[in-house]
Amino acid sequence: MQKHQPTNSVHRTMCLLYALITVLMLASCLKGSSREQYHSRTQFAMNTLCTVILYGEANPDVHTAVFARIDEIESRMNNFLPDSDISRINAAAGIQPITVHEEVFFMIKRAKYFAEISGGAFDPTIGPLVSLWGVTTENPSVPESGEINNALSFINWNDITLDEEALTVFLNRRGMSLDLGAIAKGYAADEAVALIKAAGVDRAIVDLGGNVFTVGMKDVQTQTPWNVGLRNPFQGKSPHIGIISGGDITVVTSGVDQRYFEEGGVRYHHLFSPFDGYPAQNGLVSVTVTAAVSADADALSTAAFVLGYEKGSALIESYDGAEAIFVFDDKSIRKTSGASFVLRDETFHLVSDEGSLPKVSFALFPFAQQHL
Ligand code: AMP
Ligand code: MG
Repeated sequence: MQKHQPTNSVHRTMCLLYALITVLMLASCLKGSSREQYHSRTQFAMNTLCTVILYGEANPDVHTAVFARIDEIESRMNNFLPDSDISRINAAAGIQPITVHEEVFFMIKRAKYFAEISGGAFDPTIGPLVSLWGVTTENPSVPESGEINNALSFINWNDITLDEEALTVFLNRRGMSLDLGAIAKGYAADEAVALIKAAGVDRAIVDLGGNVFTVGMKDVQTQTPWNVGLRNPFQGKSPHIGIISGGDITVVTSGVDQRYFEEGGVRYHHLFSPFDGYPAQNGLVSVTVTAAVSADADALSTAAFVLGYEKGSALIESYDGAEAIFVFDDKSIRKTSGASFVLRDETFHLVSDEGSLPKVSFALFPFAQQHL
């Protein structure tokens, strides 16, 4: 099903910009402890720029091991790489079960779990829709409604058959295809952090293109937590609109500002509703989730975005240890009850839970009028 290449030059340039901003932001965390040593390495992996900052003594072997591990995960889970386990499963859809590496099996099982608890809003069998729209390719286009309905007929996470004993995965019907793009980066961040901790590094920041994981505390003695910037989903003056504080937490954002194309003055992004086959249109521009496990936060942020604020916040509230911040296209922000978010950009406004839902503005997404 994969007829497109996943990366285009615009996307790469944007990644570079975001990585630069993030590194500057993270470096600014050092203010007040200027004598402290830290070591940063940035590489392109998992179709995005990944930055790993290790504090303390230089430890190039840890950096090398972390990036090798990220590459290994990508080589198994990226459906655009022809030899990956996911591509082998997709090629055998409707034909035969495929034996996969146990971590791939585990991720697919986990993805099914998130599909179940999100009522199918998160669906790892989204592959046919991703291919059809080609949002991140050189030639994206708005498909005919017949093509969309055809793609939708192949999307159903219940049609993934797992055999735990044999470690096999089978897609029940020809034409189905898996895409773990909404969860694999989170898993890679979890694995990177596990390696970093095992190597004895007690403070670090891992940023895999917006999947951020902080290790330890910013200052252990004073128990000062890290500050992670919440990315501004608009092209505003400030790169970050507020701060999320915490130690040993992951902060993951799903948003419409990085991967999209425009046709006829309308913006089409990459987070699809498996219910109607179009980019989800519900007034949201980003959802940021914090949790203890990055794969969970990654899946939940995608799920909550597709579900929209009401159902999405209910899902996050019901998930132990997860919190979320929802940014809307009218620059209002809502958060779940326990989210530690401090707003810094006054062009946005925080709305309390008791407030009424913001009126959805169609200025940014005129397309939404057709699909709400
Ligand atoms: P994220 O940035 O983590 O929200 O993931 C976005 C990516 O997940 C997209 O580029 C697609 O590959 C995939 N995706 C899009 N829509 C969905 C969905 N409803 N469920 C699961 N994966 C999706
Ligand atoms: Mg995600």
